Amino acid sequence: SLKFADSLSRLGTESAFVVLARAQELAASGRDVINLGIGQPDFRTPEHIVEAGIRALRDGHHGYTPATGIPALREAVAADLHRRHGAEVDPGCVVVVPGGKPTMFFAVLMFGQPGAEILYPNPGFPIYESVIRYSGAEAVPYPLEEATGYAFSAEDVLSRITPATRLLIINSPANPTGGVTPKEEIDRLVAGLADHPQVALLSDEIYSQMLYDGREHVSLLRYPEIRDRLILLDGWSKTYAMTGWRLGYAVWPAAAVPHVTRLCINDHSCVNASAQYAGLAALTGPQDEVTAMVAQFDARRRVIVDALNALPGMRCPDPGGAFYAFANVEGTGLTSRQAQDRFLEEAGVATVSGTSFGAWGEGYLRFSYANSTDNIREAMRRIGEVL
Ligand code: PLP
Repeated sequence: SLKFADSLSRLGTESAFVVLARAQELAASGRDVINLGIGQPDFRTPEHIVEAGIRALRDGHHGYTPATGIPALREAVAADLHRRHGAEVDPGCVVVVPGGKPTMFFAVLMFGQPGAEILYPNPGFPIYESVIRYSGAEAVPYPLEEATGYAFSAEDVLSRITPATRLLIINSPANPTGGVTPKEEIDRLVAGLADHPQVALLSDEIYSQMLYDGREHVSLLRYPEIRDRLILLDGWSKTYAMTGWRLGYAVWPAAAVPHVTRLCINDHSCVNASAQYAGLAALTGPQDEVTAMVAQFDARRRVIVDALNALPGMRCPDPGGAFYAFANVEGTGLTSRQAQDRFLEEAGVATVSGTSFGAWGEGYLRFSYANSTDNIREAMRRIGEVL
């Protein structure tokens, strides 16, 4: 029999994909399934972006590009970050990769090894814990709690730093909670990091353009004092409804760029060229479709949060960003896994259990509201029947 490496036993997964597979299986057998499980915009990629991708193929962009991305795209990312966050970014520090996930993997591989500790949010995006454990580093969770709107507490995060801490991962607006950490808390975190110069920071800002009720995104790029240790992750998947194109980027500390370049060359050579040209059109073209998509998410957010709070035994604070509602289901008498399974099997509504995002997600269920308001209303009605 095959002798797989021990490290594979430490690699986790993203349960949303397991739920998606089961939902598709049920749908294939004729069931009417409403998918509030997967974290993917239900919109089409805006037409001018699709056209740019097609044009790139027709124009003969069929070869390798530079490993870190075509220069025009890296420059457009820097200009976009300046426009949105007022930050000066050297295009030479922008590295384009196939989606948001590779930046996570590379950052963790760059700092993680046996003996190192890496801090990450729990409940949080499951890939953080998975790749930390895969690297051999110790995965050290910090909590995100309903009582504080799922914002992190700087004091709590800082208290978990030890001399072995090499990387701290933060994510706001957050998956799975929709939580947005307020500026004062981020100020406190950055101030506290001055005492821990060996700690690098991965700020996952993939939902940076999805904020509601007048909230403004506070990018970690706004803090020059940590720029030499900041990895700023963002991308096209969520903002431009481009999950299947596989395109993302990060701004890296200058000292890390040669390392991440070699990781890119070893891993994927470069992102496919047509996606890069599409991404360039996304950043340099009109942004009105982004605004329209966010307005739609906001309307759906209001519908789902009101409906969740009206269900017996369920409770859900207002999510400030992203497109997730993280509901407390303790009052239903169901564990989060039972709620996930029963809502899918009995009501045909796919959701993801809180425990898919870490042990501290027990008692919660994630609803992605990247679906039509009609479907959301119908899903809530069916869940009401099960309850
Ligand atoms: N970061 C967070 C917090 C996410 O929720 C996701 C996707 O669900 C990603 C990163 C990865 O995005 P991509 O599909 O671009 O790899």
